[in-house]
Amino acid sequence: MPPFLFDTTILFCIQHLACGGGQVGARLAHCADPGCSAAAVSVLQQRPYCVHHLFEVCYQKVDYYLQGLQEHTLQESDDRALRDFLAESTSVLTDLATSPVALDNLARARLLDLLLRVSELGQHLRRSPRRLLHVPVRLAFEAPDARWEEVTETQVISRYGARLSCHHRLEVGDLLLVIRLDKPQRARARVTWCRTADSGTFEMGIELLSCDNFWEIDWEAPQQTLSDNSSKSQSPA
Ligand SMILES: [Zn+2]
Repeated sequence: MPPFLFDTTILFCIQHLACGGGQVGARLAHCADPGCSAAAVSVLQQRPYCVHHLFEVCYQKVDYYLQGLQEHTLQESDDRALRDFLAESTSVLTDLATSPVALDNLARARLLDLLLRVSELGQHLRRSPRRLLHVPVRLAFEAPDARWEEVTETQVISRYGARLSCHHRLEVGDLLLVIRLDKPQRARARVTWCRTADSGTFEMGIELLSCDNFWEIDWEAPQQTLSDNSSKSQSPA
């Protein structure tokens, strides 16, 4: 964030915006949250926010991206947006922590908590690289009252899991056998989430339980982003 946001001259201009004075601080006049008339203290993703709504927006985004990483539901555009959010929010929150803006004890505690959560989100992203890879697999499910097999393919894979779709509804915690059709690999997996997809099929996340590096990918290789791999998404590995 530009350091001038906390310049007293600019704050003076912001205070006078209500009566038509001042041009420089126009985009910082008021918090962008509808119905909030508090003065903005920071700009995140080109929108000015008061302290309260800056924190609220950051918490919502951290939760959204964390869930997306855990459930393998982030799209390619989300992946880019996540990296942008990590860089910008770290900068904005750090600037706020060192700025002369008066924060009460609760706000300061929330600010430190948010900085920690943003940092953890970044660590999670680095620890859990994902690839947009369509690996053909056969799913085998066996329970006392149901038994089926289905051929499908992955949509996103990670070191310890995948997102895929199938025509059978599964419950969280259900166990499956995942058999790769392109290689002689099979592993036990646990369903971590399952939801109805637009096409009437079911989309789900699985966690691999019994195989190290099931996808046979060098996860330390430099091209780790979803966008880097989208062009190669038709080949398994
Ligand atoms: Zn606000």
